[in-house]
Amino acid sequence: MTNMKAVQVSKARGAFELVEREIPEPGTRQVRIKVEACGICHSDAFVKSGAYPGLVLPRIPGHEIAGRVDAVGANVTAWRAGDRVGVGWHGGHCFECNACRRGLFINCENALVTGISFDGGYAEYVLAPTEAVARIPEALSAVDAGPLLCAGITTYNALRNSGARPGDTVAVQGIGGLGHLAIQFASRMGFRTVAISRGADKEALARQLGAHEYVDTQSLTAAEGLSKLGGADLVLAAAPNSEAIASTVNGLKSRGKLLIVAAPLEPLKISAFGLLSGKTIAGWPSGTAIDSEDTLAFSALTNVRPRVEVFKLEQAEEAFAKVMENRIRFRAVLTP
Ligand SMILES: [Zn+2]
Ligand SMILES: [Zn+2]
Repeated sequence: MTNMKAVQVSKARGAFELVEREIPEPGTRQVRIKVEACGICHSDAFVKSGAYPGLVLPRIPGHEIAGRVDAVGANVTAWRAGDRVGVGWHGGHCFECNACRRGLFINCENALVTGISFDGGYAEYVLAPTEAVARIPEALSAVDAGPLLCAGITTYNALRNSGARPGDTVAVQGIGGLGHLAIQFASRMGFRTVAISRGADKEALARQLGAHEYVDTQSLTAAEGLSKLGGADLVLAAAPNSEAIASTVNGLKSRGKLLIVAAPLEPLKISAFGLLSGKTIAGWPSGTAIDSEDTLAFSALTNVRPRVEVFKLEQAEEAFAKVMENRIRFRAVLTP
């Protein structure tokens, strides 16, 4: 067998087309992974639009990859055939730029993005640089591991690096692909966890995921809801809606922090006066392979799982459309 099934975008704003591709051979410092599952992320829209800086079409998207090492190239010592592994958004770094020299690999000036800089996981096989590969614990299925490698690491790594301490009030804005994982992580990390969303119907789900409190922005503003609860030490913005994100700032305690992991296209409109009590607004850049391993290990340990709908590779176009129309609860995953 020398060919594989894959889904690619061959022209800007084109469809995800099912194609036959040659199974790629791993080069120096690369591993080949037999894909068992690949999550669909909103960011895969960058491939469809054709507009991402440096993107060359045709390209196979997909950066929530879970599977098994199938072959390794020259100079690979960390991995061998059969290892259960995954690859996320961070697809490798140069080890030579100033950020890398400081150990800030996620900020590498020449960072590769999986499924954008090189072909991703909407396929039966994928190649990845050895430094982009993360180990998957036995307790996690491939379908569960996939979304944890982007939606999961993004929220887990932001929360654990946020400065919030056990017992602090941490609010998660939005209960979508990122938010439903963030609520689980926050509550298991020992934070008093508040879920913010629209509609009373989401409350039961939020509490099931681990939220201690629920703010329904249909009946009051996020700031009012948070203030009633004594204010938030941290708000994690997990849904890309600039108005909804901005509306949380007045619900922060003084010295509180708004931490953004879901970026809306529209600018944030925030009164600077509200910040003078020492509040900060910051973003967090996902993480590298070792952060992915930590995310997966923590999820296995504390029973965090994504809620997924599973589709076949052939259904990529249909599944992606459902993601973009917000008709997926909460993450779509492709299987070969
Ligand atoms: Zn993603
Ligand atoms: Zn670098």
